[in-house]
Amino acid sequence: MELELKTSNEIIETSKKYNLHSWSNQGAINPKVMAKADGIYFWDGDGKRYYDMSSQLVNLNIGYNNKKVIKAIQNQAEKLAFASPAYAIDVRSQLAKMVVELAPDNMGKVFFTLGGADANENAIKIAKMITGRHKIFSRYRSYHGATYGAANLTGEPRRYACEPGIPGFVKFFDPYTYRAPFEFHSEEEGTQYYLSQLREQIIYEGRDSVAAIFLETITGSNGIIIPPKGYLQGVRDICDEFGILMVCDEVMTGWGRTGEWFGVNNYNVKPDIITFAKGVTCGYAPIGGVLVSKEIGAFFDNNFLSCGLTYSAHPIGCAAGIATIEVYKEEGLLEKTKESGILLGQLLEDIKEKHPCVGDVRYIGLFGGIELVKDKATKEPIVEYGKDPEKVMKTILGMLIEKGFSTYTHENVIIVAPPLIITDEELKEAMTIMDEVLVEVDKMI
Ligand code: PLP
Repeated sequence: MELELKTSNEIIETSKKYNLHSWSNQGAINPKVMAKADGIYFWDGDGKRYYDMSSQLVNLNIGYNNKKVIKAIQNQAEKLAFASPAYAIDVRSQLAKMVVELAPDNMGKVFFTLGGADANENAIKIAKMITGRHKIFSRYRSYHGATYGAANLTGEPRRYACEPGIPGFVKFFDPYTYRAPFEFHSEEEGTQYYLSQLREQIIYEGRDSVAAIFLETITGSNGIIIPPKGYLQGVRDICDEFGILMVCDEVMTGWGRTGEWFGVNNYNVKPDIITFAKGVTCGYAPIGGVLVSKEIGAFFDNNFLSCGLTYSAHPIGCAAGIATIEVYKEEGLLEKTKESGILLGQLLEDIKEKHPCVGDVRYIGLFGGIELVKDKATKEPIVEYGKDPEKVMKTILGMLIEKGFSTYTHENVIIVAPPLIITDEELKEAMTIMDEVLVEVDKMI
């Protein structure tokens, strides 16, 4: 294949002319060229190297250029590039078995999609089919995808483009204890507060009308919000009390990111449905999915599953998924992530102690966030929620990228989620860059 675009400038200008870029004012974009990538690094068109400290979109868990996954994709493309989802094929059956076996033991079957948003779309439909109810609860500080239903599920401003929205989608507050309306004396007290609010809200909404509660097991883009002790089990109990399905969105937290196959394993909680995507193939091919409990799986033995996608369980995605899971196992990436997570935690705590601009740091495994404030004591965020007219966060991100630390920010939080293959040395080197940039941010507040 001979491409006509040769120089970085040609690639950028052609992209600006013909590509519509996500989540941006098209006139303001200035995309970088990614020329090549390997391990935890990528290089731009000028040959400059970057630490990928967000694993792209928190999906490239095994890093770039993994030869095993590339080979699996090549082999599958040669053997059978496509078969409609109605056919049973080896890689499709095998990946489904592997995913179910790695999931919590109440899970029974999986419906494959292409990514996270369509996994959540199908989970909404399944929850309605199972319960015959129409209301769906989700949280304000959440991102569940950009398609219409998933965007209605989403709580943060990226849902606004779909407003006034689909009737029956109800939002509740996250257990964001750092920004709670008052100090809790213990984590458990915070848990009790948020759970009692949720329970009351369900009753006001009509206890028999709620089909499902969707929640990111650990809030990702919206601030790495770690559930306080007992919170997820408390949500499970509320769901059981009212016959509501508990749906955990593990699109970011699944597949090793927290040091476990799924984030819920950290809390010993068994949801009815788990949605996943990203790390199952680490971006080498698009695959997502809806894992359902054995009970839900059995329901569809005699009831019609009204879900379908041309590319559901795409053979190339399935082959990539199998190889990716083998990489996690062969390279011991879950255990390694737990260990690297301890180091990341120490480095983040040091940063919090040193810098006046850092209000809070939150982390689990290699899933971390740095919350920036104007004042540690008042916790006033460095930018107001949903507002950053002076583009303060964009400036800070630019400073990081300039020094070779690639990541993304959301509201006043910087995401730190490198590929799970990162070494301790690399992690320390990259966090030194973060430290240098935060010295400058301290001067800005
Ligand atoms: N759910 C969560 C928690 C996510 O973080 C994302 C994407 O970032 C999605 C769903 C949507 O996934 P996708 O972009 O693959 O549609």
